[in-house]
Amino acid sequence: MSTNPPDLRPDLAPKAQLDPHRRPGQPTVGMVSLGCPKALVDSERILTRLRAEGYGISPDYIGADAVIVNTCGFLDSAKAESLEAIGEALAENGRVIVTGCLGAEPDYITGAHPRVLAVTGPHQYEQVLDAVHAAVPPDPDPFVDLLPARGISLTPRHFSYLKISEGCNHKCKFCIIPDMRGRLVSRPAHAILREAEKLVDAGVRELLVISQDTSAYGVDIRHAEARGHRAHITDLARDLGQLGAWVRLHYVYPYPHVRQLIPLMADGLVLPYLDIPFQHAHPETLRRMARPAAAAKTLDEIAAWRDICPDLTLRSTFIVGYPGETEAEFQTLLDWLDEAQLDRVGCFQYENVDGARSNALPDHVAPEIRQERWDRFMEKAQSISEARLAARVGQRCQVIVDEVDDEAATCRTRADAPEIDGNLFIDEGFQNLTPGDIVTVEVDEAGEYDLWGRLV
Ligand code: SF4
Repeated sequence: MSTNPPDLRPDLAPKAQLDPHRRPGQPTVGMVSLGCPKALVDSERILTRLRAEGYGISPDYIGADAVIVNTCGFLDSAKAESLEAIGEALAENGRVIVTGCLGAEPDYITGAHPRVLAVTGPHQYEQVLDAVHAAVPPDPDPFVDLLPARGISLTPRHFSYLKISEGCNHKCKFCIIPDMRGRLVSRPAHAILREAEKLVDAGVRELLVISQDTSAYGVDIRHAEARGHRAHITDLARDLGQLGAWVRLHYVYPYPHVRQLIPLMADGLVLPYLDIPFQHAHPETLRRMARPAAAAKTLDEIAAWRDICPDLTLRSTFIVGYPGETEAEFQTLLDWLDEAQLDRVGCFQYENVDGARSNALPDHVAPEIRQERWDRFMEKAQSISEARLAARVGQRCQVIVDEVDDEAATCRTRADAPEIDGNLFIDEGFQNLTPGDIVTVEVDEAGEYDLWGRLV
């Protein structure tokens, strides 16, 4: 089995950042959060609840009375990583509660690690909490354990993921998420907005909207209106855009109604950024993948979006070496990439995943051909990214500051999502900046993936 390098895996989450403060005698849990940003939101919710109940959150194994491992099961390599993380937590701490995607297969976990205290599946918040209560009884102190305004965050304070729905109604053959997470279940728009308002009140400057299929938001509840807010992605994006924070949309599929989002971007309500997992461009490959969108029209769609919003940034992910992918199909993908001129792309080599229907497809591509196609794909993607970044030298743009150290301020432009895209570095006159600041810079240098700029 070929394994994708960690920086290319679509399911990796940002590193956990936990609050190390603990009062004497306080029941304390640790959290290892694996998987995608969606799983990270689950971890945040669990920790928020536990903190509200009086638990301390330990940044290390030693200080924890028990450890929750939030697992990922998206790829076989992710499953292996999850089992390894459980093993490490057992060795270091000994009291381990497993949750998340891989928790949907309890026998798989207990077969490898019979000593785990409990296994719960994805989004089983109550069950996770029950397991924690059983393992480490709560000892609330209302004077010190008040819920902080934005709960416990595993991401820096100035940006936050905002999950709008769970599950997916599609059946892409390489994906087992619908089996693990079920069909689409959308949160009511007013509940999402309330959470977003609280986040912004607590200092969040950028909201990262995530779900399995963001443009399908509200389909399951027929876009019902509740408390004055309609459950439709266009309405939700417009409502979120009123809160005064940057709003970035991830995992958007190119359905026709996505066109209605572009004017919101042109008007500055939502960041001009779309993260669309195209996965491939050849219609036959897409058909074998059972993808929801047909490739034939995506170039026209992209052109129409750019007509309305010329500074739109497009990010996407692709799979190369899908079963049956011929050289001609792959070449179509490269040609498509040339024409689409996407700003940011991730690419991973096809892997069989236990339970995926694509495993049974004929004509699997040999590992060395997958690798060779991946190399060619990345070479092209890199040259496109480099050229598009070079064109930005001399332009002025807003950036958000993520980190400041002795050498530079690490920032992002509106075209860069945290953790997955590039950075803009300011290495002069940055000393007064703090994370979360939004400032204007002039770009004075460009690399393959990153920019450098100076404050104006
Ligand atoms: S759209 Fe396809 S790839 Fe995405 S979660 Fe649904 S089934 Fe999986």
